Amino acid sequence: MSALPQERRVITAIPGPKSQELQARRTAVVAAGVGSVLPVFAARADGGIIEDVDGNRLIDFGSGIAVTGVGASAEAVVRRASAQLADFTHTCFMVTPYEGYVAVAEALAELTPGDHAKKSALFNSGAEAVENAVKIARAYTKRQAVVVFDHGYHGRTNLTMALTSKNMPYKHGFGPFAPEIYRMPMAYGYRWPTGPENCGPEAAAQAIDQISKQVGAENVAAIVIEPLLGEGGFIEPAKGFLPALSEFARDNGIVFVADEIQSGFCRTGQWFACEDEGIVPDLITTAKGIAGGLPLAAVTGRAEIMDAAHVGGLGGTYGGNPVACAGALGSIETMKELDLSARARHIETVMKARLGAMQEKYDVIGDVRGRGAMLAIELVKTDSPESVATKEPNPEATAALAKACHQEGLLVLTCGTYGNVLRFLPPMVIGEDLLNEGLDILEQAFARI
Ligand SMILES: *Cc1c(COP(=O)(O)O)cnc(C)c1O
Repeated sequence: MSALPQERRVITAIPGPKSQELQARRTAVVAAGVGSVLPVFAARADGGIIEDVDGNRLIDFGSGIAVTGVGASAEAVVRRASAQLADFTHTCFMVTPYEGYVAVAEALAELTPGDHAKKSALFNSGAEAVENAVKIARAYTKRQAVVVFDHGYHGRTNLTMALTSKNMPYKHGFGPFAPEIYRMPMAYGYRWPTGPENCGPEAAAQAIDQISKQVGAENVAAIVIEPLLGEGGFIEPAKGFLPALSEFARDNGIVFVADEIQSGFCRTGQWFACEDEGIVPDLITTAKGIAGGLPLAAVTGRAEIMDAAHVGGLGGTYGGNPVACAGALGSIETMKELDLSARARHIETVMKARLGAMQEKYDVIGDVRGRGAMLAIELVKTDSPESVATKEPNPEATAALAKACHQEGLLVLTCGTYGNVLRFLPPMVIGEDLLNEGLDILEQAFARI
């Protein structure tokens, strides 16, 4: 196991004096637009712990935004990436190829849903993977329109900003955005007017009607959707929504793209979140959890679609970097060996029981949701009958809770269109004591605010 002691330790204020010094240097030279959730500077990290430069040890409920599910210095990732570093750092796959890239594509073909022939292309970031999925779908269908959804998040590049739903902070002042993007309603059960039971079929019918009437199915190259939404608030599309859209795509020659960049790689208790309703996407985009913290992303999908782009039409200098590929092979090896999907399901059992008990006690928790080690609570206002009736979002309580947790050495993240969702993304390898201690801290934070 980890060389880093798996114990919380708070020995200075958070952030401590050394972090504050580094923060002052950072402020002088790092662009203000690049923010940080908690400006404690990391010194070491692994398992469920991040140790900072002041010697504090924080319990990690963020995994660097769903990246380090195997831990931040997993043995197999370090071993394989170090060996690759010593052999060569780069040749460029588009100049002289190497085995690691091929091995990652083989692993992706094996692990992603469906038993059809599959191919992959590798990139550096999630946004790049999503952009390339759109390029591939357009090349294959010879159509232009792309359908996305309310609350969706797909990245920060120009095309993916256009695909992303939320203005602040992702898009504000950064336009103009790419054309031919159409946004449809999301099956958000908690906020659906006629209730969560009716939400899936009703939202699907609305979306399909709007696509047909406003865009024309025959003009749509791709439907791009997160099977479990990340930044938008850990919304699980209500049951029936994804199957209806996937069937609509199949019937109309539309490429169905599952953006599994946050939800993939054991995070939700399965290799991929779309398996929950038996969805077999035409293309699937992955990044975050794929390589144990090294920058890598992929588009994987039906061979005939993936091969639609002409030779030289896809790629990039660093895409599928050999060190990142070695990291991915180490990360995938770890997920298989430790059965991290089962670990994620166990985390869900432990956490949902405790979060459910907190919801009974604290009315401010409107909803507890998510799957596996991708869980969240949505916070609402309770101070007037109207705010209760409208489930008025409570971003103030969300920020206060996150801050209270940070002070006690528990790293939690927020998300959601209304900034009122506290999300939990512990590494799947986190020990059970740390998991429970983190939940104790959260519970105490509720009592305090
Ligand atoms: C993070 C994320 C992206 C963008 O990935 P980057 O590596 O940050 O470019 C795209 N889609 C989803 C669902 C994500 O969570």
